[in-house]
Amino acid sequence: MVVGEEMTTAQSVRQRLVDRTVGGSRKFLGRLKKRFSPRGLILAYHRITEVSSDPWGLCVSPRHFGEHLEILTKHGPVLRLQQVVEAIDAGDLPRRAFAITFDDGYADVLHNAKPLLDQFRVPATVFVTTGEGRQKRGFWWDELDRLLLQTDRLPDTLRLGINGETYTWELGPDTRSKEEDSWRSRSWKAWEEAPTERHTLYRTLWQLLIKLPENEREQVLDKLTAWAGVTPAVQPPDALLSSQEIATLAADGLVEIGAHTVTHPLLSALSVSAQREEIQQSKTSLERMVSRPVMSFAFPYGNFAPETVSTVCEAGFSCACSTAVDIVTEDSNRFQLPRVQVMDWDGEVFASQLSKWLSRG
Ligand SMILES: [Zn+2]
Repeated sequence: MVVGEEMTTAQSVRQRLVDRTVGGSRKFLGRLKKRFSPRGLILAYHRITEVSSDPWGLCVSPRHFGEHLEILTKHGPVLRLQQVVEAIDAGDLPRRAFAITFDDGYADVLHNAKPLLDQFRVPATVFVTTGEGRQKRGFWWDELDRLLLQTDRLPDTLRLGINGETYTWELGPDTRSKEEDSWRSRSWKAWEEAPTERHTLYRTLWQLLIKLPENEREQVLDKLTAWAGVTPAVQPPDALLSSQEIATLAADGLVEIGAHTVTHPLLSALSVSAQREEIQQSKTSLERMVSRPVMSFAFPYGNFAPETVSTVCEAGFSCACSTAVDIVTEDSNRFQLPRVQVMDWDGEVFASQLSKWLSRG
C-alpha cells in the first residue's frame, strides 16, 4: 500500500517533470521556428500630416513618410494586406514582407499619402470609421485635444458629471496657456509625464470618455465646449475622408478600403448584437461607396473580445488587424494580425526600428 502510494507519487512527480520538459522544449521549438521562419511586418499609420498638437503620435510628416517608403521598397516586397493573408494561408510568406495600413480615415491619407504611394507604386489598406458623427464633429480625441490643449484660456474649475459620478478639477495657474508651454504641448505624448494640469486633465478625461457610448460622450463634450467658452467644435471640413473621397482613394485599386466600425467603440464593452451591427454596417456602407467587396477589418483601439473575432469572420471579412506589437509569420492568426505603430521618425530611425522589430521573437 505504502509502496503503491510512493510509486504513485513518484510517477506523478515524474509525469509533471516530463510534461514540463516536453512543454518547455515545445515552447523552445516554437520560438526557434518563429525565429527562422519567414517574417513580415504590418505597419500601422494614422495620418500623414503635421499638426500643432499630437498627443497620441498619430501624425507622420509627408517628408518622413516618403523616406519610409524608400526604405521599405529597398528592403522587401511591400504587399497588399490581402496578399499577406493569402501567403500566410499558403505557407509562402516572403522573408521580409511588409504591408502598410492607415486607421480611422483621415483625409490627409488621400491628399498627402496617396501621391507618395503612387510615386513608389506601393499598395496600402485604409481602415475607415463610417458613422455620421465622424463627419459632423470628427473624432472625440481630436475634439478633446482642441478644447483642452489648444484653447488659450480656460476657466479655473471644471465640474463634470460622467457616468453617474461628479468630478471636479482645478487648473490653477494653468488656466492660461503659457507661451513657454506651447512647444511642450506640441511635442507632448500622452504616455509621458504631464507638463501642466491641462495635460493631466486631458489624459484623465480621455480615460473616462473612451468607455462611454457615443451619445453620452458627445453630451460631455458639449458641456466641455460650453465650459471652455469656445464656439462648438467644428472639424475642419477637410480633416476626414468624405464618401466621395473614399471612392476616389479606392478608384485605381492601389489602396484597399477596410472597415473600422461605425462609431469607433470599445467593441468588447458592447453586446454581441451591437458589435455585429457596428462591424456589419461599416462593411455595407463602405461597399456601397467603393463598389467592391470590403474584406479587411481593424479593431478600434485594438480592442476585442473572443466573440468579436468570430463576428468579424461571420460578417464575411477575410482578416482583421489588431494592435498587438509583433511580427507576422506563417503561424499568425489572420483574424488577429499583429501590427507595429509607426511614429514620426526620419528614415534613419525608421530603418533601425524596422530591424529591431524584425529581430523579435
Ligand atoms: Zn482607430
